[in-house]
Amino acid sequence: MTLVLLRGGLVWRPRQPALEPADLLVRDGRIAQVAPRVDAPPQARVVDVTGQVVLPGLVEAHCHLDKTLYGGPWVPHSADDTLAGRIGNDLGRRAELGVPSVPRVRALLERMIAFGTAHVRTHTDIDPQVGLRGVEAVREAAAGLPIGVRQVAFPQHGVLTNPGTAELLEEALQNGVEAVGGIDPAGIDRDPVRHLDVVFGLAERYGAHLDIHLHDGGTLGGWELELIIERTRVLGLGGRVAVSHAYALGQLDDAAQGRLIDGLADAGVALVTAAVYSFPVPPVKRLRAAGVTLACGHDGIRDLWGGRTAAATCWSAPCISPTAAPSAETTTSSWLLRPPPRAAPACSASAPTAWPPATAPTWSWCRAGARRRPWSFTLRALWS
Ligand SMILES: [Zn+2]
Repeated sequence: MTLVLLRGGLVWRPRQPALEPADLLVRDGRIAQVAPRVDAPPQARVVDVTGQVVLPGLVEAHCHLDKTLYGGPWVPHSADDTLAGRIGNDLGRRAELGVPSVPRVRALLERMIAFGTAHVRTHTDIDPQVGLRGVEAVREAAAGLPIGVRQVAFPQHGVLTNPGTAELLEEALQNGVEAVGGIDPAGIDRDPVRHLDVVFGLAERYGAHLDIHLHDGGTLGGWELELIIERTRVLGLGGRVAVSHAYALGQLDDAAQGRLIDGLADAGVALVTAAVYSFPVPPVKRLRAAGVTLACGHDGIRDLWGGRTAAATCWSAPCISPTAAPSAETTTSSWLLRPPPRAAPACSASAPTAWPPATAPTWSWCRAGARRRPWSFTLRALWS
């Protein structure tokens, strides 16, 4: 029997917005007791975490593991600042740099685990040039690691504008990839209706989740959000559709924003933000207040797009703001974060939830309020 007692932490618990001092006992990988004072059983390893924050494992809800250069030599940034430029740079250099690379994906996953991340949704490039190699690389890299990895079959370089991609997306779903992606139905594929026909059709046929990158801004992006809301509602796919980025939401006027937010909430379309520095962040507080399912992630982590280098989900939280921080929903099988009844503490910003089946996974602790290197210890344990 293995026993670990976390002594004196500030423990986050479901449906209890405030952190409270408590001891947490883990027996054979399961949380056996959480109480203000737990006597240490004989042979227990006691870890003093007095004053530290103890959280369930974090969810990295949007990243691109297959693109990462993490763990390899430093590669100077070579893309320009446009979306088209970054896509072209990505296509042109990935073979030269050995992307996708199993050791680099594994190095990044190991780093995420060390920083308290328990689950990852990763968008894996699929196109006629790379085929399904990215999917296979991510699977191989994740094998045996204590982290849940869900892949999105992602048409980074377009569906209609890159013939053969739709067939490969379907092949990925047939091979067990859990979700299908889309990207800028207007801005990249130039034909929103046909683009949405393809990706919604695949999601419907294979019972897959759908997660659409939407960089298109302003009224164009707002109109595409309307189309996504309408499709989700008509096809009854609420709870299975997410939009990543949705910059337009942060750019529209108050009334248009309100209509779209109500539509997202009503249709059950989730929103995932990476809090990108150069675009308005979607109105997180307003989205939460309306009941929109919300999550965040890093997007690129050391890749040809630039990206961030932290690999610690908690670090991106301050970009959104502590009062806007999502809290955890541990009672449903949803992987995303649902709005809490009240604001959650800053450190649980990207907090945690269970992938199906519903369990509460890794618990971690960090220094309350610290942002430079918050994660020091992770412990995998499930609810008893
Ligand atoms: Zn992305």
